[in-house]
Amino acid sequence: MTSLADLPLRADLVGRTAYGAPQLHVPVTLNVNENTHPVPEAVRVDILERVAIALDDVNRYPDREFTALREALTDYLGHGLSPAQLWAANGSNEVLQQVFQAFGGPGRTLLTFPPTYSMYPNYAVTTGTAVALGRRDDDFRLEPATVVAEIERTRPDITVLCAPNNPTGTPVGLDTIEAAYGATSGILIVDEAYGEFMPKDAPSALTLLPGRPRLAVSRTMSKAFAFAGARLGYLAADPAFTDALRLVRLPYHLSALTQAAALGALAHAPLMLQMVDEIRTQRDRTAAGLEALGYRVWPSWTNFLLFGGVADPAALWQGLLDAGVLIRDLAIPGALRVSAGTAAETDVFLEAMGALTPVGAR
Ligand code: PMP
Repeated sequence: MTSLADLPLRADLVGRTAYGAPQLHVPVTLNVNENTHPVPEAVRVDILERVAIALDDVNRYPDREFTALREALTDYLGHGLSPAQLWAANGSNEVLQQVFQAFGGPGRTLLTFPPTYSMYPNYAVTTGTAVALGRRDDDFRLEPATVVAEIERTRPDITVLCAPNNPTGTPVGLDTIEAAYGATSGILIVDEAYGEFMPKDAPSALTLLPGRPRLAVSRTMSKAFAFAGARLGYLAADPAFTDALRLVRLPYHLSALTQAAALGALAHAPLMLQMVDEIRTQRDRTAAGLEALGYRVWPSWTNFLLFGGVADPAALWQGLLDAGVLIRDLAIPGALRVSAGTAAETDVFLEAMGALTPVGAR
């Protein structure tokens, strides 16, 4: 059988492993921070109608500029943005990869602050960008002075701040983002994939866009919008920044069916987002349940929790899987991550945790 080693692979990809959160079919799936609530029926009907209409013209290429979608995303985000500031692609993963294609590359450096979203170094490697690792403050926080010191130390071309941070749930203050922008002459990406789960009065980095042409704020419909399978991520930045992304995107990268489905979902934004409060409630219930069992839970502004004090994370992960609950082991010592589920899923998770937690640990 042919293996990778038999192929003339690019030297910098040799020995690398592909992104691979396990995709297992178990009753309770709480491992990749999806919204575990289905799309409401009324939205489904509208999406189906819109997709049917899009099929009438599917022999033609789609609107390369996804004009209607950029307008709908502008309306959704508010903050005085204009459609020229919006960009979208098949998931924020593709959006972020395009940023690296445009602003990274050989001789350039990414600064990322682990533990954080594991794909950032991957976009760097696949675009020939070097990776510098920044340090965090206690409890995974990022203070302005720390970010500035790390930027001055590593002189990055691209800095990514995941706000709030995956996999720790940690918020990032606007003061940290402002300080990072002021300290770098490169691009600053604020990844707000979990932005809708922040407290309602917490300001978004979108408020910092005016006068900051090197800042981009990325978002996704995969999480709060319950639209992970549709693949729609987006970004807001200066119009010149979106022009840079036009240089690297593939022609017609957003299919007419994707554009139609996303427009359908955005037309019902309040209904699509009605589960956000319920998810926050279950997240807080999960945190209280874990704390009652003796675990340490880090504060979270997202739809997931990192919990520590786990004697053997691999064994607990497997024990939960055997009980029909899939969560995530990200190799953070003594810790595991669990996404917030429905009330019923939370019951199953907490019950399994109770059964798997040695009495001595409580
Ligand atoms: N950013 C962060 C922080 C994420 O956690 C994820 C998905 N887990 C993404 C980006 C990518 O999401 P998507 O491509 O589905 O928009």
